[in-house]
Amino acid sequence: MDNMKKIALVAHDNRKSDLIEWVKFNKGNLIKHDLFCTGTTGIMVESALGEGFNVTRLKSGPLGGDQQLGALIATEKIDFLIFFWDPMSSHPHDVDVKALLRLSVLYNIPTACNRSTADFIISSTLYNSNYQRTLKDYSVYLNRPV
Ligand code: PGA
Repeated sequence: MDNMKKIALVAHDNRKSDLIEWVKFNKGNLIKHDLFCTGTTGIMVESALGEGFNVTRLKSGPLGGDQQLGALIATEKIDFLIFFWDPMSSHPHDVDVKALLRLSVLYNIPTACNRSTADFIISSTLYNSNYQRTLKDYSVYLNRPV
């Protein structure tokens, strides 16, 4: 992991205010890194971080943004996922949400789904280190006889 982290930030509508509060609290840290957001979250994060700060804004979650983020994880272009999903409602893109969370586990990405985990991640001594994520070896699976 480089010093410049690639951090994905996503929040469902009922959790956006929580995420934006966290982003504002950690502004000094976050502006040093590359941020990737789903569409609406990205607009709000840019406005919270102020003039001149741009995030990479993907499609809105229900329109494919979660899947775009999953593709970035699968191609190892994301170091952290901060995903404040809503535990109190179902969404039209619940399958995409599940797929995104599955890939974050598969690729061993530090993932926060709530404020306290996000706080632990950003204040960890490992956060500023050259941490090497271990990846499971899937060669047996990839070379299986078919
Ligand atoms: P949004 O998408 O940032 O475009 O609201 C988030 C989501 O629902 O996954």
